[in-house]
Amino acid sequence: MRKKQFKAESKKLLDMMINSIYTHKEIFLRELISNASDATDKLYFKSLTDSSINASKDDLKIRIELDKGERTITISDCGIGMSAEELEQNLGTIAKSDSLNFKKENEGAEGIEDVEVIGQFGVGFYSSFMVADRVEVISKALGADTANRWVSSGADGYTIEPCEKETRGTTIILHIKENTENDSFDEYLEQYKIQELVKKYSDYIRYPIVMEMTSQVPDPDNEGEYISEVNDEILNSMVPLWRKSKSEIKEEEYNDFYKQKFFDYNDPALVIHSKTEGQATFDALMFIPKNAPMDFYSKDYEKGLQLYSNGVLIMDKCGDLLPDYFSFVKGLVDSADLSLNISREILQHDHQLKIIAKAIDKKIKSELSKLLKNNREKYEEFFKVFGVQLKWGVYADYGMNKDGLKDLMIFKSSNGGFATLKEYVSRMADSQEKIYYACGESADKIALLPQCEAVKEKGFEVLYFTDDVDEFAIQMLMEYEGKQFANILKDDVDLSTDAEKEAEKKKNEDAKELLDKMKEILGGEVSSVKLTNNLGSHAVSLSAEGYVSLEMARVLSQMPGANEGVKAQLVLEINSSHPIAEKLKEADGETLEKYTKILYNQARLIAGLSVDNPTELADSIVSLMV
Ligand code: ADP
Repeated sequence: MRKKQFKAESKKLLDMMINSIYTHKEIFLRELISNASDATDKLYFKSLTDSSINASKDDLKIRIELDKGERTITISDCGIGMSAEELEQNLGTIAKSDSLNFKKENEGAEGIEDVEVIGQFGVGFYSSFMVADRVEVISKALGADTANRWVSSGADGYTIEPCEKETRGTTIILHIKENTENDSFDEYLEQYKIQELVKKYSDYIRYPIVMEMTSQVPDPDNEGEYISEVNDEILNSMVPLWRKSKSEIKEEEYNDFYKQKFFDYNDPALVIHSKTEGQATFDALMFIPKNAPMDFYSKDYEKGLQLYSNGVLIMDKCGDLLPDYFSFVKGLVDSADLSLNISREILQHDHQLKIIAKAIDKKIKSELSKLLKNNREKYEEFFKVFGVQLKWGVYADYGMNKDGLKDLMIFKSSNGGFATLKEYVSRMADSQEKIYYACGESADKIALLPQCEAVKEKGFEVLYFTDDVDEFAIQMLMEYEGKQFANILKDDVDLSTDAEKEAEKKKNEDAKELLDKMKEILGGEVSSVKLTNNLGSHAVSLSAEGYVSLEMARVLSQMPGANEGVKAQLVLEINSSHPIAEKLKEADGETLEKYTKILYNQARLIAGLSVDNPTELADSIVSLMV
């Protein structure tokens, strides 16, 4: 019998498969099972219009057999089968439309890059050569009397000859390679491994995938003893949870599914199950975890959703499906619009995928917004864990995503509890022009700031910004519903009446000499020293002039590679109606120097800044006491 040669294109692919060093060799099983399922589909649909075809659903199974001694894996289906011509055509050539793209992409590329493409997405039947050194395909086409056997050991070509086969369909026998120094193939002959691979990649194939499983059961004749029992077992669960309609699924099922699939001990905080039709048709099942995943803050954390094409897993973590600010979302997307054999490069530019990603982004936003509206407590729990991500989302891309996200942000407020920007604005007094906020380590600490007390005394609400990103995020927003933001620790808050302002101006003018002297004493640490009536009952405080707030300067100085140039212009504020103001007027020389330094350092401490020389500060205070 004459050996036939593979077509040039197929040959190249085949070479790559045989020499593949890719660690995901295991996808061969997914590919063969998908082919078997497709062939069964074809038969089933034919039977719907042709009553002479015997295709009762019970017979339509895919069977896997393992033979360790012979080192074979056999995969059989009762599908539509292939004639001799079809064997030649389908398995002697790469008949797929993607194959040309595939070839182009790989022109000039060698080794690893080729392998990466194969490993990730598989290229159908040929992937069997990654684990087998000889492959037999025995097939009997629907309605044919004779069957044929296609055999190939790889690059040297293939043969086709008639053979015996009773039943319709295709049987594929893989002769598994011997272990080599670098590669182990033995595990593919273990039932647990096959069981695992079916679960991982082919769990939702709609036909039962059956295998004889040996298990240990109690011996009925000898108590305490076990015997081996061999039974046919169905390895896949067949109906994907996400394909069922929502009303059919109990909460518990969602929770179990999540915990098992995404390795969490806790139930998810939120389940998002959606069916989308239109520009793109897909099912999505997503979960928001209760707690941040263990590795969430590590470099290794990879965002992404599982990507299925018609129930078959094609990618474990498709990062392109999730924006960074939703990187904590777990879940999957299943779309019939995506081809099973699609390379990572193509996928990245895939128009369909982009539409899906956009729809998913919108869906998550709308579900969160619903939660915020309907279950505030739960939303706040969620926000405590992942809120920072959303704020970063507002900050990133220069606020490109701010529109959907800005109403999902909540901040601690002087009103008690959390407030959205919308709630804040709706509560604003007519006379209030700006949204007031203050930054600090914690809400409690901010509430104690002198300026905060003064603003609250006037009856205004203050938002407490406690995350580093907060102020940066609202800088990106610039305004909310026409209202600008005002940092009450900065110079841009003006709560005084005109008369009060006039009086304050006068006081500052009168004390100009003193204030200038104090500024000189502080030697460039502050840009000015001022008398103010905005400090309530407190003596001193620090604020900032210009663009950079105290908080921003603090955050920026902590970033790696910090820009030394970014410094806040500090203003030392002295309460003009506090006795200390009088005391200062009387002080001179060394005493004024001591007072000024003490007040400045106290103001730094109140603002949450460090003091350069705490010993000197302590000594000065003590010297005043004794
Ligand atoms: P793909 O499945 O992506 O088309 P493959 O290389 O896996 O590419 O298979 C090539 C072709 O061989 C299939 O399109 C199908 O027509 C045929 N084929 C493969 N396996 C089977 C099978 N088990 N039964 C019937 N036809 C099959």
